[in-house]
Amino acid sequence: MSDVLIIKTNECGIRKTVNELLEHFPLKVKDKRILIKPNILGPFPPERGVTTSPEVVRAVLDAVIDMGAREVWVGDNPGIGGYGANLKAGVISGITNATGKYFTNIGEEVVRIPVRSRYVKSVVFSKYVVDADIIINLPRFKTHNLTQLTGAIKNTFGYIAGGMKSWLHTRGRTSREFSELIVDIYARRVPDLTIVDGLTAMEGRGPSNGRLRHLGILMASYDGVACDYTIARMMGTKPNSIFQIKYASKTGLFSPENVRIKGDYTELEDFEMPTISSPIISYIANHLVFPHIYPKPVVNEERCINCGNCQAICPTNAMEQFPHINYDRCIKCYCCQETCPQDAVELKGFIYEILKRR
Ligand code: SF4
Ligand code: SF4
Repeated sequence: MSDVLIIKTNECGIRKTVNELLEHFPLKVKDKRILIKPNILGPFPPERGVTTSPEVVRAVLDAVIDMGAREVWVGDNPGIGGYGANLKAGVISGITNATGKYFTNIGEEVVRIPVRSRYVKSVVFSKYVVDADIIINLPRFKTHNLTQLTGAIKNTFGYIAGGMKSWLHTRGRTSREFSELIVDIYARRVPDLTIVDGLTAMEGRGPSNGRLRHLGILMASYDGVACDYTIARMMGTKPNSIFQIKYASKTGLFSPENVRIKGDYTELEDFEMPTISSPIISYIANHLVFPHIYPKPVVNEERCINCGNCQAICPTNAMEQFPHINYDRCIKCYCCQETCPQDAVELKGFIYEILKRR
């Protein structure tokens, strides 16, 4: 069975809740090398709810130190800014401060490894991912404009170091293709335990510009896909409409019928998924007119502060003539929108506007 345990908590109860989850899902940590992998998408302060709560990361860190881990690394490869972004994102997210000497720039040492995927033959992982005896995955409970939700599977995209992350968007161009690609990456090194930070849920235009709503839970499972399955249900959407979950089931990585949800499960009323995630829209988009139906990114120059994040991450150099976007090159990966600290990259399109109003 794939047990998923959900426990209600609050800012004061995080440590106790993390310990309860670790009692329920014990790990043989003693004398092992541990990688704690939060979501540090970019340099977003904790109150934005984009990155994993520093308190959750610290509570997990303290627990594994108490259990006698030989070595512990805390780190991620942020989507924003390529090489060198790790340290800045760690500081602004509050995770460096929360974890002190354990915070590690995991982008510094990399290794190319083969991966079974129809999209790529190999990927560049942080060496820490390969060296770790145990990986504890700490995603947030959020929507995602491209992959519909970002949870356990999507958080392992941060195994990928440096510029390869944005290049991979050119290999898996549609929502379905990219979702399948990230499952292939997840499957290359399945985390040993996933603890989802659900203190708040992000709805709408996740993973960085959505709305936060109080949720007040932590969720854990040995099976990260089971966490994503549970998140989808809590969001009020059919898990099988999420390409990542569907593909994980198809490839035998996951069995929905084996999921057993325990604890404080609740479905969020009127939870807003990203507009493009509706199964009907996704079907039309992916099978009929994908390149035309998906909205175009457009820079709102009044809000833009010229930080350069979007240009740096664009995998196809479509923003070379910034703020003009070359739509012949744009593959609509929405990395620019995801990484904009000002919510200045807007998605526009006639059909998109109609669908958004539904
Ligand atoms: S312009 Fe934005 S959406 Fe288009 S390819 Fe570049 S990063 Fe992706
Ligand atoms: S659009 Fe956003 S990410 Fe791009 S330069 Fe302006 S503020 Fe930065």
